[in-house]
Amino acid sequence: MKPEPNIFFSTLQSLANWAAGSSLWPFSFGISCCAIQMMHAAASRIDLDRFGCLFRPSPRHSDLMIVAGSVTKKMSSQIITLYDQMLEPKYVIAMGICAISGGLFKESESIVNGVGKLIPVDIEIPGCPPSPKDLAEAILGLQRRIKNPIHLPATK
Ligand code: SF4
Repeated sequence: MKPEPNIFFSTLQSLANWAAGSSLWPFSFGISCCAIQMMHAAASRIDLDRFGCLFRPSPRHSDLMIVAGSVTKKMSSQIITLYDQMLEPKYVIAMGICAISGGLFKESESIVNGVGKLIPVDIEIPGCPPSPKDLAEAILGLQRRIKNPIHLPATK
């Protein structure tokens, strides 16, 4: 029998992936100047809400951490604790060269040379600072990877 044109065949896993990718909720915290660009991305011009990306005030509500700026050694244990409190599956975006590698402050005695030394990072956005549009593109890329996990790299 020929299926009706409005019948879709899928799997529960595909549906779950679609739902998870369409509802990324970032944890609302900023640690340095890149956070201003992150706030801009959430405001009316880029408006991350329209992609289902709603900033939440608690790590227990969130499945995405955007590390926007340089990470000090003093903040390290707090970042690890906040990451541990987030929902599974969870994702991390390192925004800006400071979050990726320490950037301008690399080798400074107070700065961690990249948040990847503390927690696993899924996407890195280069630049100083990256633009709000760069962040939106990174989030859309992450959404595509979650919705189509076959395209995920074998290792993070
Ligand atoms: S990358 Fe540039 S804008 Fe972002 S936290 Fe570092 S110095 Fe600030």
